[in-house]
Amino acid sequence: MSRPDTPSTLADWQAMAAGLTLETRAFVDDTFVDAVSAETFTTINPATGETLAEVASCDVADADLAVGHARAAFDGGAWSRLAPGKRKRVLLRLADLMEANKHELALLDTLDMGKTVSSSLGDMAGAIACFRYQAECIDKLYGEVAPTGEEALALVLREPMGVVASIVPWNFPLMMTAWKVAPALAAGNSVILKPSEKSPLSALRLAQLAREAGLPRGVFQVLPGFGHTVGQALALSMGVDCLAFTGSTGVGKQLMQYAGQSNLKRLYLECGGKSPNIVFADCKNLDKVAKHAAAAIFHNQGEVCIAGSRLLVENPVREAFIDKVVAAAERMQPGDPLDPGSFMGAIVDEAQYRRILGYIQMGREEGARLRVGGEALPGPGLFIPPTVFDGVTPEMAIGREEIFGPVLSVFGFDSEEEAVAMANDSVYGLAAGLWSQDIDRIMRVTRRLHSGQVFVNNWAGGDQTMPFGGVKQSGNGRDKSHHSLEEYSELKAVWMSLAT
Ligand code: NAD
Repeated sequence: MSRPDTPSTLADWQAMAAGLTLETRAFVDDTFVDAVSAETFTTINPATGETLAEVASCDVADADLAVGHARAAFDGGAWSRLAPGKRKRVLLRLADLMEANKHELALLDTLDMGKTVSSSLGDMAGAIACFRYQAECIDKLYGEVAPTGEEALALVLREPMGVVASIVPWNFPLMMTAWKVAPALAAGNSVILKPSEKSPLSALRLAQLAREAGLPRGVFQVLPGFGHTVGQALALSMGVDCLAFTGSTGVGKQLMQYAGQSNLKRLYLECGGKSPNIVFADCKNLDKVAKHAAAAIFHNQGEVCIAGSRLLVENPVREAFIDKVVAAAERMQPGDPLDPGSFMGAIVDEAQYRRILGYIQMGREEGARLRVGGEALPGPGLFIPPTVFDGVTPEMAIGREEIFGPVLSVFGFDSEEEAVAMANDSVYGLAAGLWSQDIDRIMRVTRRLHSGQVFVNNWAGGDQTMPFGGVKQSGNGRDKSHHSLEEYSELKAVWMSLAT
């Protein structure tokens, strides 16, 4: 099958998909292997319902083996003691290989979890930029010399931690992987990646590229499988020094228990959200804001941790503004994920599809006013259109709980005070947005929002320089920026006595 080098049409992407060769085995100690149990699980394309592959289903035996190899690699020092500038060169080579293969990597994510190829290509740009940024940072971070008298030299050294396990979700499979793996590797650790069982394919392709880039044996390993098997085994392992997790708050809470039951491993959690997007009546261009507010929730089918799922609108402009949001939503219909013109793709799997439709039903029963959407589209494939509920109140489940789908809950407010109170009335604190022309109000409200990140007159703005993470039950970790490198290293205090 001939493949276009740069696919740009639906037919190009279909042709590329038909010619793919999938790696489905685990990557352990530089080798692709079946799971020790020889068990596999099925990964499906949610846009068609077709089986994509049978993938190695790792469990505790595979985790034990990988942890042993990771420890041996760390102790051997081929990576952990390599000069940072040399680690940088290998990671930059990996980024170049990702760039050269970005269409294939994007396609794997699209086939595996239903997101559009346009969105997947955006993820690849983010993933590659993350590897480059972290690689470039690592030989520019200095240790410290503490202030002492002449009787001592006191050093604060930054050292790799050892074995890092990364457990990631399915909504941005390779980008979430990059956010965890790039800084952990750059800092000199051995990394074991467990991709989601719903989207394992791009992680296994990344392993092939990592080997080609020259990462030493055992430094990067990939264990596909389920959370309750291999995920739990890594979280309970006495040989894992740090666990970096992105996923739901419920699983995050379990992982805290596992860390306590085992070796008090360092634990970073990036969990769920129910992010408020606040629109003040003083905005100049409400048409533009409405489009952004719709994209803030409907991008990636609403399967986004920082989705702007609670829209808070100042009452004098609320009716007119919601009409504009509904009009924008109607233009964001789901379509074939392989069609570069599709704005939304398919929902990741049957369980998530049922969960979203269940919340839509709940919204109706709770008395919220359905303005658009609400019915699944006919199959094959799992498609739910943009759905907007108005008149949502804080006690309704659709106004409080993370739905992780294309469902927007709209609230009205009468004062700045009320808007801030409503925005902060959540167990989550991942992201918040506000739209206003009044700089005094912007600064007042920004400081009062209890949230890891605040977007002012945009939604989801940022680049590699910005730390990404939440407060409250959205977790404690920070991905991206040089702060994420700090998370994957330990401080060692060295006090040297000197003769005076
Ligand atoms: P999930 O919590 O179900 O699964 C995430 C990962 O954890 C998967 O790899 C899964 O296999 C694994 N896992 C599940 N149970 C486990 C266990 N007992 N032990 C160890 N590992 C286990 O989440 P999901 O459905 O994959 O992703 C959606 C969630 O992720 C949403 O809540 C979303 O908000 C969150 N998320 C957060 C961020 C962020 O940066 N804060 C980014 C993306 C997604």
